[in-house]
Amino acid sequence: MSSVALEVRDLVKSFALDGATINAVDGVSFQVNSGEFVALVGPSGSGKTTMLSILAALLTPTTGQVLIDGQDLAQMNEKKRVKLRREKIGFTFQSNNLIPYLTARENVEFMLRLNNKLDRAGRVRSDELLARLGLSDRLHNLPAQMSGGQQQRVAIARALIHNPAVVLADEPTASLDTERAFQVVETFAHLIHENDRAGIMVTHDLRMCQFVDRVLQMQDGKLVKVYESKQEILELAQGVLKH
Ligand code: ADP
Ligand code: MG
Repeated sequence: MSSVALEVRDLVKSFALDGATINAVDGVSFQVNSGEFVALVGPSGSGKTTMLSILAALLTPTTGQVLIDGQDLAQMNEKKRVKLRREKIGFTFQSNNLIPYLTARENVEFMLRLNNKLDRAGRVRSDELLARLGLSDRLHNLPAQMSGGQQQRVAIARALIHNPAVVLADEPTASLDTERAFQVVETFAHLIHENDRAGIMVTHDLRMCQFVDRVLQMQDGKLVKVYESKQEILELAQGVLKH
């Protein structure tokens, strides 16, 4: 039985811009179950990053609710929110935010350290995860010694290592070549499914949608279309559907 890991209810985020107000997110509702991998697509400026930042509890919505594992973010004080973000949420953003003076392995282990979970088993898991992402020979390299794509994969391992309920990824394939991008998203999908996590990936590249269970399409801050059937998702990924 899958349970709801993430729920968004009538979410609105407004920004004041040159005297006007724009709704970057404009009344969006959806749920993501554990074990489900969802893509968030839409043109530049449609609100994807704003949405993901709210889900990551990095940005407060103007109105509406976000529930993670049934807990309402708005009902928590900052201390509780920080704890929830650290334990239940994993994320990678467009800029990978790796710690420059830590090696690949140390960057991944850092999430375990933050949660007081860095034991021998955690160390083994972190090396295994890096291996699955094709980084066995990069464990001891600093971010500056790796390519953009390798850094991005370290960031993905870091987002997954503490087994968060919800994994958020903003354009995780932006700096990868096509073949590597397919491999990484496929591995990402496997990890989400195997570990029964809820995954949300923002992507510009519709081809990546072939690995997800559902596609949410945003435009002007609104959720304008949901692709749910395998057939529809594949057609979208293959560029058959006009979107
Ligand atoms: P996407 O990730 O889909 O490209 P964003 O969420 O970054 O879109 O942006 C959605 C809209 O909100 C855009 O019009 C953007 O200019 C605006 N926006 C985002 N962040 C801010 C901000 N901090 N202040 C003002 N406007 C913002
Ligand atoms: Mg964005």
